[in-house]
Amino acid sequence: MANRLILCVLLLIISPWLLGKELVVLHTNDFHGHIQQEGKYAGAAKIAAFVKEIKAQHPAVLFLDAGDAISGTPVSSMFEGEPIFDVMNSMDYDVGLIGNHEFDHGYKKIERFRAIANHPLLTANAFGPDGELLGDAPYLLLNLNGIRVGIIGLITETAPTLFSPTGNEGLTFLNPADQLSELVPMLRPKTDVLILLSHIGHDAERLLAEEFQDLDLIIGGHSHTLVQHPARVGKTLVAQANHYGSHLGLIKITLPDTGQRAPLVIQGDLIAANELPDGDPATQALVSSYEAKVEDQVDIKIAFLRKNYSKTELQPILENILAEAIGADLGYYNRTGIRDVLSAGEVTARMIWNLEPFGNTLVKLTLTGADLLILLSQEPSLHHAVDAIDPERRYQLATNSFIAAHATLAFGDTITAVDTGILVRDILIQQIKANGLK
Ligand SMILES: [Zn+2]
Repeated sequence: MANRLILCVLLLIISPWLLGKELVVLHTNDFHGHIQQEGKYAGAAKIAAFVKEIKAQHPAVLFLDAGDAISGTPVSSMFEGEPIFDVMNSMDYDVGLIGNHEFDHGYKKIERFRAIANHPLLTANAFGPDGELLGDAPYLLLNLNGIRVGIIGLITETAPTLFSPTGNEGLTFLNPADQLSELVPMLRPKTDVLILLSHIGHDAERLLAEEFQDLDLIIGGHSHTLVQHPARVGKTLVAQANHYGSHLGLIKITLPDTGQRAPLVIQGDLIAANELPDGDPATQALVSSYEAKVEDQVDIKIAFLRKNYSKTELQPILENILAEAIGADLGYYNRTGIRDVLSAGEVTARMIWNLEPFGNTLVKLTLTGADLLILLSQEPSLHHAVDAIDPERRYQLATNSFIAAHATLAFGDTITAVDTGILVRDILIQQIKANGLK
């Protein structure tokens, strides 16, 4: 009798979940144009095949992207990001987000991305010069198989420091927490599941989760963080799927069938590229048609490497190449601007495009050691040249146009900048072809 009672109580406790509906959320972030399968990166076709499978099996599926879809490969760079949104249509995304790299070709280009994409691109806190919202909407309210879902889109407030000022004049980025203070209380009563689609970075996203416990789930991006299982912060889960399509996030949300707000059961995992099925043929055909337009130019062998080079190892080597190219005292290549590592074996021009997808030019900056030290203090870790710099001396520095533009904004007339107009990428390809990496 006692056993039966325990069983009944147990059933009462778990029955809401047994009867409950399920929402499946699939997610990517920081895809950076990696439509073609390459090494650890799945490519669009394999992801599309998996999404298709899941959508066929479940009545309520959402496929989300958390921003920075473009900039990172030759196809993206040569055609200014547009093909990536075309390929994303074939992958059947439901909702996307504007990340900082969506500004790489100037904010006006975002209108084109919005026109190409079949899915809405959200942002609640990015505005153009006339105060116009730069996304399709600040948030969405959807009903999926009777489940009321709210999705809010936010980008990091630091975005202006992360893209070129040219073509991005007069933009405003509002504080994400301020936006959530308004939106969360407004949307919570209208939703069973409230999601923040965020391009803010994992640490900051965890802080937002702490502050806004009425969010059920944060699908994050920007910091390229591999979060194998969504991190629990109080009642809120915070997910992120690394970068470049190396992983696809899969989250199952089970709703209690009570009609009332009750705890959701949320479980998630990342699926690595090698665990995904064979590529979807239609998506692969589209990817191949774009790749065919660039392969003659980029699939060219330029060198052979005996070892792997990490970004930390590449930084001083690339800096030397820039300095030597214009006879400067020093080179500075920002670590976050080195977008890929180089692996032992054959090096192709494509790999240098992947490393420098932005099309930055080489600039000679003349500045004091003191200003140079301020510039280098922006690095994520201590720059290797810091100890050798004399604050009193003036230096000629070889750097890229991204750093030069931000330095000019920060220091004004105390520095001079001369843009050579030569692409950093071209110099790297030329030098690595002539001398290897040294
Ligand atoms: Zn980003």
